[in-house]
Amino acid sequence: MSVPTDRMPLDARAPVSPPWPAYVTASVAWHAGAAGVAIVAPQEWPWALGAVAANHALLTAGGLLPRSRWLGSNWTRLPAAAAARREVALTIDDGPDPEVTPAVLDVLDRRGARATFFCIAERVRAHGSLCREIVARGHSVQNHSDRHAHTFSLLGPKAIARELAAAQETIAAITGEPPRFFRAPAGLRNPFLAPILQRFDLQLVSWTRRGFDTVRREPTDVLARLARGLAAGDIVLVHDGNAARAEDGRAVALAVLPELLARTKSLGLVPATLPVASLQQRSDDVAAPAEGAASASP
Ligand SMILES: [Zn+2]
Repeated sequence: MSVPTDRMPLDARAPVSPPWPAYVTASVAWHAGAAGVAIVAPQEWPWALGAVAANHALLTAGGLLPRSRWLGSNWTRLPAAAAARREVALTIDDGPDPEVTPAVLDVLDRRGARATFFCIAERVRAHGSLCREIVARGHSVQNHSDRHAHTFSLLGPKAIARELAAAQETIAAITGEPPRFFRAPAGLRNPFLAPILQRFDLQLVSWTRRGFDTVRREPTDVLARLARGLAAGDIVLVHDGNAARAEDGRAVALAVLPELLARTKSLGLVPATLPVASLQQRSDDVAAPAEGAASASP
């Protein structure tokens, strides 16, 4: 299989996070310290065991908090350069969905907005032409795992790597562009994920705010959660797949998007895809009315 690799120049991309997240070094040192105490002062072994248990509890908690950075680099907002350009990222998860996604694309077209679709690879394989249409209409498709397993955060390193690899291959083969961003199913992960993301050169992305539109059926409630304090650099999350239905039967995201995009525009914010928002500098920065644009050119 031949996959185009005409990706952005390295210097224009987001900085690569360190090869090992700090928690790995800290945890290894913590375990070594506890083992040392148990050897030097065997009567203190319950304390050493307690210290190791506390370390594991912290790692588990870090994986269950989608926006935490304890387990490695995790975007909860766009980089500063994107915020300076007044960009926001609209991220749309769990598709493509043959019923909802085309309607979402129409809403985005009408508002001239660009979005990032975190797609589930098995749905990409089932709806390949729809996935290609997402890209053809100016949006970005990124990695949301192969199967969106509810047990993703319980998987071991080999199974996590298989999930990421299968989704990378599927999306690259169908869209021609290998994903550069990953979002964990439900945002839940474990300490094995960060080194595997490094291997695939994938940046973990969570969100600034979400509307819980897989479970909440009231559009005004979802909109309020998404729009409250909306500002440059925000990453917002809605769903075209697994979407809750409003009273009229529509996916909640469809009921919410027109007003959300209207508010985005009235605040002078620009919905941009994650690959675009990750650029340090864009050729059209000079023409952009964003604050700080005057100092953006060398
Ligand atoms: Zn999801």
